[in-house]
Amino acid sequence: MKNKIPTRIYLTEDEMPKNWYNLRAIMKEKPDPILHPGTLKPVTADDLGPVFCKGVIEQELDDTNLLIPIPDEIQDFYRAYRPSPLIRAYYLEKMLDTPAEIYYKFEGTNTSGSHKLNSAGPQAYYAMKEGLTSLTTETGAGQWGTAMAMACGFYNLKLIVYMVKVSSEQKPYRKALMEAYGAQLIPSPSNTTESGKKILAADPNTGGSLGCAISEAIEVAVKTDKCRYVLGSVLNHVLLHQSVIGLETKAALDKYGVKPDIIIGCAGGGSNLGGLIAPFMGEKIEGKSNARFIAVEPASCPSFTRGRYAYDFGDTAKTTPLIRMQTLGNDFIPSANHAGGLRYHGMNSTLSKLYKDSLLEARSEVQTDVFDAAIKFMKVEGVLPAPESSHAIKAAIDEALVCKKKGEKKVILFGLSGTGFFDMTAYASYNNKTMSDHIPSDTDLERGFASIPDIPQNK
Ligand SMILES: *Cc1c(COP(=O)(O)O)cnc(C)c1O
Repeated sequence: MKNKIPTRIYLTEDEMPKNWYNLRAIMKEKPDPILHPGTLKPVTADDLGPVFCKGVIEQELDDTNLLIPIPDEIQDFYRAYRPSPLIRAYYLEKMLDTPAEIYYKFEGTNTSGSHKLNSAGPQAYYAMKEGLTSLTTETGAGQWGTAMAMACGFYNLKLIVYMVKVSSEQKPYRKALMEAYGAQLIPSPSNTTESGKKILAADPNTGGSLGCAISEAIEVAVKTDKCRYVLGSVLNHVLLHQSVIGLETKAALDKYGVKPDIIIGCAGGGSNLGGLIAPFMGEKIEGKSNARFIAVEPASCPSFTRGRYAYDFGDTAKTTPLIRMQTLGNDFIPSANHAGGLRYHGMNSTLSKLYKDSLLEARSEVQTDVFDAAIKFMKVEGVLPAPESSHAIKAAIDEALVCKKKGEKKVILFGLSGTGFFDMTAYASYNNKTMSDHIPSDTDLERGFASIPDIPQNK
């Protein structure tokens, strides 16, 4: 076949991104500022200082510089496992018998198994540079904790991971992997913190939640000398680091003159989606492209499609600053969906603003449909997808089938954020048909909305 685009589109080391792409800088209307929960004024670097590293605070508050240089040491860190594969899904196209071209960017080849290492590396690097000696964080499904354990192992930092108790019991291999990299694992809620003790006193048998683990990790960071807290999604500096995904994809596609018409990603807190779309959305905002962008979320945790656009806390104990975002309310506890990485009540503020301004579309899917799509995909493409990432597969297949019906030769790009190797319990439950779909009722959602703070900005 002449001029056939290769199945794997490689980048050379020279073609790797030298800058991150700060999408907010190109937006005509910016996302609303993060507010201090006490004063309700925009937070300052000093407000965030006790919790986060200086390097990331500067990035978090920057909505004017479009290109932010990636320090040489982080470019080196990235080179250890990047560029990640960009794959033309010829077999999937053939199976669907669609005129559409389908591409996916696969972030699951590093040991942590997902895109999260792209931000874990920089966050540990800045902490090391600032002379800190330890970090704390939380993990739900375990991907973020593993990525941070790898990064802290690399930069010789101590790491304490508060892991949602049910997950630590369900995923013993995640725990072993984090410990092998030198991290200390504490099932949350625990009696090592005041917030943990409070939650345990109220419900000694609780399985924990992400919001609760965040509260514990922040408390320890603030109380410990030379220690800060790191977060793996939701915040804008995380999206900034993840823009490496979109920049690599764009550089590779540009080599062959390919321009995606539809770009799809799964959305938990928004970091892999935000990173993938960043440079493409920039072109759209500049009027240079007509691409569509689609966020896919679980029907059990529908922050975009059924959430409210409001200022809310990032954690259950209401200790974080207030972020204006699509939210289900800080005490919304999603049902036990297998896509653990998508079980978060809120959504990144930049993506929330893009959604509100109709630049980003969103849809929700139930997990049995998502696993149907995952199985179709892995049978022809060979790659075992994470349950989270399979939400994007579902939408990509649906869009390819629309192209088939209309006879349209669109270019579809989706983010395959991780591997499913640590999710075999989920696949087992799909195989033996014990998997069920839970969609919250309006009454369930009202209960969550009631926890959104009653402040003038939300009127
Ligand atoms: C954590 C995770 C997600 C969800 O997080 P985002 O910040 O929305 O990207 C999606 N896929 C995988 C594989 C994850 O580990």
